[in-house]
Amino acid sequence: MAAHLEDAAHYPGGHADAVARPRTERDVADVLAAGVPVLAVGAQSSLTGGATPAGSIVLSTVRLSEVGTPIDDRNRAGAGVPLATLQGSLAVHGLEFPPVPTYLGATVGGVVATNAAGAATFKYGTTRDWVAGLTVVLAGGDVLDLLRGEHLLDGGGVFVIEGPAGRREVPVPTYRMPDVTKRSAGYHAAPGMDLVDLFIGAEGTLGVITSALLQVTAARAGLCYALVPVDDEPHAMALVGDLRTISQQSWASGDPAGIDVAAIEHMDRRSLEILREDGADRKYEVSWPDQAGLLLLVQLELPLLSQAEAYDQISSALDEDAPDTALVRFCRLLDRHGVLDDSELALPGDRKRADQLLGVREAVPAGVNARVGRARRDIDPRIAKTAADMVVPFDRFAEMMTIYRDGFARRGLDVATWGHVSDGNVHPNVLPRSYEDVEQGRAAILEFGVEVARLGGCPLAEHGVGRHPVKQALLRQLYGDEGIAQMRRVKQALDPQDVLAPGVLFP
Ligand SMILES: Cc1cc2nc3c(=O)[nH]c(=O)nc-3n(C[C@H](O)[C@H](O)[C@H](O)COP(=O)(O)OP(=O)(O)OC[C@H]3O[C@@H](n4cnc5c(N)ncnc54)[C@H](O)[C@@H]3O)c2cc1C
Repeated sequence: MAAHLEDAAHYPGGHADAVARPRTERDVADVLAAGVPVLAVGAQSSLTGGATPAGSIVLSTVRLSEVGTPIDDRNRAGAGVPLATLQGSLAVHGLEFPPVPTYLGATVGGVVATNAAGAATFKYGTTRDWVAGLTVVLAGGDVLDLLRGEHLLDGGGVFVIEGPAGRREVPVPTYRMPDVTKRSAGYHAAPGMDLVDLFIGAEGTLGVITSALLQVTAARAGLCYALVPVDDEPHAMALVGDLRTISQQSWASGDPAGIDVAAIEHMDRRSLEILREDGADRKYEVSWPDQAGLLLLVQLELPLLSQAEAYDQISSALDEDAPDTALVRFCRLLDRHGVLDDSELALPGDRKRADQLLGVREAVPAGVNARVGRARRDIDPRIAKTAADMVVPFDRFAEMMTIYRDGFARRGLDVATWGHVSDGNVHPNVLPRSYEDVEQGRAAILEFGVEVARLGGCPLAEHGVGRHPVKQALLRQLYGDEGIAQMRRVKQALDPQDVLAPGVLFP
């Protein structure tokens, strides 16, 4: 069982009595019919302690590993299928599942349960937008086969679910969710909502997902990455703002020469120092000027073109008679922002270079997590990852960054920030030098939660709530005591004995 007692948050105290590894939906139903506490887990890549067991049975989905054949633009996959396997299987058919988080070891069940979102949420939305149906086993063992569009909430605001184990009347909460691109903040609730949406993002507290019917799309052929060093945040925000607006115009007009950006990632100055300290710049053969205040990593979608054509377009991009293509327009935009010369592109088909640029981005959280681990070992065992995962509407992003900076500086904290800037969602992470830094960081994050809600954002964007006391407190701040009471009524209706993921979402 040792392999199942910890998740990626390294939440302390994981323990369990048994691990169940069901092969079928029937097996899952048998486990749940026993009426003992069960925590469903996928890859345990949770960053919130949500996949850390607190006793009783860990239900690993590892054997729910079947991937169906795509029919039209849909593909059914077992809850335990890792996203890398799913993408590999879809690639054979020229398809892909776009809203993946940056960790491809995560499972289908895990991403649905947390409504995970990746870098490309800007263009493709979150997991929720790509779930066409779910099979869920409820506490007591009833199996629900849900197809999106078949069970919509009526004016009474109550879902009625009947099965051999009984009739459940589920009163949907009446709070208003923040209107942002990504949210992983307790139960989804909206007038006329689909029952499928109640289980997406519920973090395993309302049922065990055994399989999902996923919407898929044609694989993107002309994917290109640009690593763009920028002097400071205001310049970076101006560039990101332009790229966002122009891309949205391209989607609306369908202009084949329009700039089409799916994602923009962000690494701040402290993150760049970490990359250099760890030698990640040498490892991935990437460099940036010393004066660079931050790096942007842009995911650009181009029409299919050969590398030779792409080189030609780049080298002539600033000429008057350059062809009017998306790549030329992109280069010209970088030039107008004064960053073209220092930028580097991994052209479509250059998988090796793309992996190096993506490797640099991933080396930032890896470097920060390693430092937190060392501090825990060498300084104080109570030291833990102390990070925010908040999202605001993009036009409030600069304000949010100022709030972060001021709040951390006032407390004298060392912080690295990176993330999905095209969504207005970044992850400030404290680099703790003492347990007091962790406590100060937590206080800062709770303060930010109030400010982010004031800006129309959500303090819990993509990682969920889990068992983390700060995230549970942020959820309460967001919806208030009455909102939490409404969520508890949903839980009570579907899981009256509190056997599904006890301690997750609610203390
Ligand atoms: C390096 C790294 C990068 C990451 N990047 C991102 C990112 O870009 N975006 C993002 O959103 N997240 C990210 N995450 C967080 C994590 O990958 C996601 O939360 C992911 O969705 C978890 O999937 P999992 O299979 O590991 O689920 P687990 O961690 O095993 O479980 C997560 C939660 O879902 C529940 N659950 C799991 N399977 C089921 C099921 N079948 N039925 C019901 N409930 C279930 C669990 O009980 C738990 O509460 C990252 C994590 C790491 C380590």
